[in-house]
Amino acid sequence: MVGAGDGPSDGGNTSSASASASDVLSSSSLPRSFSYGTDDGLEAGRQSLLGSRMNSTNSLLGSRRGSVYGSRYGFGNAYFEVDDLGVYLSSVAVTVLMACMATIGIILFTLVVTLAVMLGKCQKAPLPNTCASFTLNAEMNNLQGYLLPQECESFVANYVGSGQYHTDFTVAVEAARSYLTTIEAGDDGRDLVVLDIDETALSNMPYYIANHYGVDAWNETLWDDWVNNASAPALDAMLSLYTDLRAQNWSFAFITGRPESQREKTEQNLAAAGYSDWVTLVLRSPDEHTLTAVEYKSKYRKMLESDGYRIRSSMGDQWSDLSGGNAGDRTFKLPNPMYYIY
Ligand SMILES: [Mg+2]
Repeated sequence: MVGAGDGPSDGGNTSSASASASDVLSSSSLPRSFSYGTDDGLEAGRQSLLGSRMNSTNSLLGSRRGSVYGSRYGFGNAYFEVDDLGVYLSSVAVTVLMACMATIGIILFTLVVTLAVMLGKCQKAPLPNTCASFTLNAEMNNLQGYLLPQECESFVANYVGSGQYHTDFTVAVEAARSYLTTIEAGDDGRDLVVLDIDETALSNMPYYIANHYGVDAWNETLWDDWVNNASAPALDAMLSLYTDLRAQNWSFAFITGRPESQREKTEQNLAAAGYSDWVTLVLRSPDEHTLTAVEYKSKYRKMLESDGYRIRSSMGDQWSDLSGGNAGDRTFKLPNPMYYIY
């Protein structure tokens, strides 16, 4: 028997419009086994055909089983398959997926950076503080003749109210203490510290708080009323230094720009604040009003040294308290954010 798949016979009964059924069966379109087989052969051919179809069906079932337990999604060469064991990606799908994730990551990163830049621009840059610059330069004695600008009232109020003023004052006084403790005062009481009064020994802060920290025009009547109340408190750090040094044979002299007419109230105020005694209290006499503060104060320091006092240090809230000579080996400038006398 010739197996299926061999070529057609070269016999003369290949095709005819009136071909009988046997002719059809013997047609070259059928396997030769049908052309030449007996009944047994025909049966064998049927089995062969059935076997072929069963194989085909099994193959088809196998493919369909694959589609039942797994699915394939995608387009073109980019696909992924899902079955009961997991997800399988083609290399193209992996590339596409990674590209998508990278693009999303870049977009998110760009958004975050852009948002951060926008927020940074929204934050106001701190403005230069011209009031702080003004007071700093005033303390450095660069602004002689200037008055505290009106717009700086709140700056000074905060400087005082925050406690920074008193801290700065205390640091200056403690620096003086460190220096003076290196000197042993003699038993003769001639080792001397010269002090200014206003904003040095006594604080007029209650007056300045009530009068806008010095930005208001000078009002002599209001000031005289305040002085005559004799209620200015001591600056604690200075009173502490005074008390300690007095116990160690140090002497003190007060030289103030207050007029001689305020002597009694000034003495009363000093005593009430805790300053118990002094070598001398110098106030301006009427004929000294033409002198500058430097000329006036240095004149009396020189007189004290002429009288045999050893001025070791001078302390004051104005540079004019310390200039002009005879102020001792070291001077200590105390802070004053409100007014500047030269
Ligand atoms: Mg003063």
